[in-house]
Amino acid sequence: MFDKPRVVAQDASIRIWMEELAKVAAGPAEADGPACPAGPELIDQIRALEELKAAASAAQARAAALVDSAVRRSQADAGVQKEQLGKGIGAQIGFARRESPHRGTQLLGLARILTKEMPKTLQALSGGFISEWRATILARETACLTLADRQRIDDMLAGNPAELEALGDRQLIARIKGLAYGMDPASVVNRAAKAESERFVSCRPAPDTMTYLTGLLPVAHGVEVFATLAREADRLRAAGDSRGRGQIMADTLVERITGRSKAGDVRVEVQLVMTDQTLLAGVAEPAVLPGYGVIPAQFARDLVRGKLEASVSNDGSRNSGSSGNTATEVWLRRLFTAPSTGRLVDMDSKARLVPAGLARFIAARDQNCRMPWCGAPIRHFDHIKPWHVGGTTTANNVQGLCEACNHAKEAPGWACSVSNGELGAAHTVETVTPTGHRYRSAAPASPGVRVA
Ligand SMILES: [Zn+2]
Repeated sequence: MFDKPRVVAQDASIRIWMEELAKVAAGPAEADGPACPAGPELIDQIRALEELKAAASAAQARAAALVDSAVRRSQADAGVQKEQLGKGIGAQIGFARRESPHRGTQLLGLARILTKEMPKTLQALSGGFISEWRATILARETACLTLADRQRIDDMLAGNPAELEALGDRQLIARIKGLAYGMDPASVVNRAAKAESERFVSCRPAPDTMTYLTGLLPVAHGVEVFATLAREADRLRAAGDSRGRGQIMADTLVERITGRSKAGDVRVEVQLVMTDQTLLAGVAEPAVLPGYGVIPAQFARDLVRGKLEASVSNDGSRNSGSSGNTATEVWLRRLFTAPSTGRLVDMDSKARLVPAGLARFIAARDQNCRMPWCGAPIRHFDHIKPWHVGGTTTANNVQGLCEACNHAKEAPGWACSVSNGELGAAHTVETVTPTGHRYRSAAPASPGVRVA
């Protein structure tokens, strides 16, 4: 599929550049030695290296576009249906750049646009006039235009690289918008419709056991939600509520969305992974809350028995607070790690579909999508060795994947296998891509595992 000797030769020349740069990076950090270059030379060096990074990005874009066409051709030769062509390529680009498959797919999209539709922008990147990010802005801001209009903007802006180089991010966006609106006013409407179709809500960890709940909304909805929360906070504070404005807005957000009258009145199912030493002996070994990440030991203990006034059972059955003076109910499912190895205790099933108990166990073990560098939330439980060739429904043979990665690994030429090392090591999956590259992904350390 690839011209192997040439790839090897290119790699060898890149190695030589890297060795030269490593010498620069290992040089003196104090500007007092006789061998140290002067200030102006150092600024020139920083600029030259920035141009080198841009040129490297352009070369990566060209390589990604070549991989894309080569894989599509071989998939078509193998009889893959037209709408399935291209599956898994973005993930391979992501792996090569140590980025998530999602990011790899974005980078591949940029590579296709630069090589096929915006040649002047690619030249400007290759010449070090713009960074990969500015090239992304040029591609993104022209996405809703016709090919002819996109190419006119490519020509007008990137055809004059010295002028393009002088623009900052905001100035560049404003210039493209100004040109695009003049060429095709309908594209503004199309853009708004496309942007609106990309609305979403996400949840990601914040420091100190807090979380960011983010909503990307059409501007009218976003402003309306914010104004409603602000009005309610002002009303309550005028009526003597002692909470801060931000606190009331946050509490009101939770109340209105969950439909409960008090922010503290919540029922949660918590899957907490912690050692018995953390729970009972008060040691500081952190626990893991799947979907959030590592939480401090004391916070985990409070969740179990302190502030939330709930108790714990082994079978995950419901336990409500004994004091009866709190509306909080905690459904707690406890997953202990084996004391000898630190691994979560294995579970298996005779069924082909992953039963709920095993799925919970794998979600706790893997925490996020297991594809290397992905980190997206788990949406699918995937048989590593497929069921139809004798793969079993056991914790060892099932991994948690996001939707995109599960889709990518169904492409021709992909293979996964369990490659656990010595007893006690983390659950490890090896993924082989169609080019024969091997990537290993180990489950994150469970509480109780001592890192030497
Ligand atoms: Zn994934």
